[in-house]
Amino acid sequence: MTETSTIQPDTEQSVIGPHGEPIAYNTLAKWEPERGHYIEETVQVYLRLSADGTRWVVDGASIDGYSLDSVLDHPRNSECPCDQRQDCATARHRAESVDLPDGEGLMRMLAEALGYEVAKKETH
Ligand SMILES: [Zn+2]
Repeated sequence: MTETSTIQPDTEQSVIGPHGEPIAYNTLAKWEPERGHYIEETVQVYLRLSADGTRWVVDGASIDGYSLDSVLDHPRNSECPCDQRQDCATARHRAESVDLPDGEGLMRMLAEALGYEVAKKETH
């Protein structure tokens, strides 16, 4: 079975990466005031050292199909520059009911933001 996620970026923008290379990303990853309040969350991705001790690998706990754990106690709106406090608090509260992604969902979100297409290898 092959799954493909097609990316429909708005317009691409780029940032300069840690090694001086431009990194293009979908503007969905860039917040703009007209898109509403700035409500943020942060999830944990569990990694462990590889058996040979030379690199980090994704631990099974991050790809077990359950939502990734939040680093925060709840979504935050502390960085939202709006002056509509009640509306902003309502948006933040509403975000609490939005499930956090599981590992695969996060992988798709990263792929979409970076402009990749994702295809799953066939397994037998
Ligand atoms: Zn706001």
